[in-house]
Amino acid sequence: MQYYTVSDYFARLYDKLGRQHPVDVSSKEAYNLWKQQVRQKLIESIGMDLCTPAPAQPKQLDTKEFDGYLREHWVMQTEPGVWMTFFLLKPKCAHNGGLILNPHGHGGGKENNVADPENPGVKARPDFFQKKTFAEEMAAAGYYVVCPDARGTGERREASQQGDAPENWRSNSHREINQMAVGFGMSMIGMMVWDLMRLLDYMLSAYPEIDPQKVGCAGMSGGGQQTLYVAALDDRIKAAVTSGYFYGFKEALLLQPGNCSCNFAYNLWKLVDMGDLGAMVAPRALFVESGRKDHLEGAPGLDNVYPQVQIARDAFELLGCPEKLVHSVHEGGHQWVGVGVRDFFDRWLLNEEK
Ligand SMILES: [Zn+2]
Repeated sequence: MQYYTVSDYFARLYDKLGRQHPVDVSSKEAYNLWKQQVRQKLIESIGMDLCTPAPAQPKQLDTKEFDGYLREHWVMQTEPGVWMTFFLLKPKCAHNGGLILNPHGHGGGKENNVADPENPGVKARPDFFQKKTFAEEMAAAGYYVVCPDARGTGERREASQQGDAPENWRSNSHREINQMAVGFGMSMIGMMVWDLMRLLDYMLSAYPEIDPQKVGCAGMSGGGQQTLYVAALDDRIKAAVTSGYFYGFKEALLLQPGNCSCNFAYNLWKLVDMGDLGAMVAPRALFVESGRKDHLEGAPGLDNVYPQVQIARDAFELLGCPEKLVHSVHEGGHQWVGVGVRDFFDRWLLNEEK
C-alpha cells in the first residue's frame, strides 16, 4: 500500500521555523538579556504562567527506617486542589546542609527512585533494583533527598491508570493530563516544573538547616527532562544532572513523536533547542550523561547529542566556567549509570574536591 505521511513535512517545517531564539554568546550582556527574555517565552510556551499558587499545607503520612536513612512520606498542595506526594529521605549520619531534588522518569513513580520493596511495581522487577538507588546513596551520604511523584504517576495517577497491578504502577496519566491541559495552553512539563519549584519553596522555608547554596537536582529520562527544565528556569538549582535526556529536539522528539506527551508543548520547537536549555543553566553546574546506545537520542545517536552539548558549552565558556559543564558518555543504552555524579555534587554543592 502507498502511504501518504506528514513526517517529512514537519521535518522541513522544523528547518524553516525551529529554534528562532538560539543562545546569544556574543557577549555576557547579550547572553544575560537572551536568558531573561527567552526564559519568559519558555514559561509561557509550557504554560507555567497559568499555574496558580496555593498554600503548601504539608502533611506527613508516615515514616520508615532504612539502612542509612529515614524516609518520610508527605503530601503538599502545589496549586489549589492539586496535591503532590513525595518522599523525604533524611540521612542517619550528620546532614551536610545539602538538598537534592530527584524527580523520577517514566515506568512508575517516586517508589522507583527509592526501590521501595513494598511497592507492587518495584516488586515485579527485582532484577532492576539490585543495588542502592541514587537517592538512597545520596541520603546515606548526608544529603536530604526529595523524590516527588510527578502529576499522573505513583499516587497521583488519574482514574484510568489507578490500581495495584504492576502494570498500573508502571503506567502514568501524562497523555490524559496533557490533553486536558492543551486547551488551556498548559502542558505536562510546565506543571511538573511548577510542582518542583513549589517543593523547593517548601523545603527551603521549612528546613532552615538546608543551605540554599547547596541545592541540586538530578534525574534519569523523564526525571532528566524535569531536571533540565527546572535548572534552566530556576537559579536556586546550583547543580543539575540530566541522564538520558539531552539531545536535539528534531531528531529525538519531532521525528520520534511516539514519545510520551509530556515532551511536547505549544511553540516549543520554535523557541529553542535542548542545548539552549543547557545554556540557561550556566554559570551554575550541569552534568549531562549520555548512553552510546540510547535509542531516544534519535537515529543519529550521539551525533544528535554532541552539537547540543556544544551549544551549552559555548555559554559556559563565555561565562568563564567551562569546568562546570560535564558530559559523561557510557557504552550502554537508556539507563542511569551515574559515574562521577556524587563527586560532581560534592564538588559544586559542598566545595569538596576529590
Ligand atoms: Zn511523560
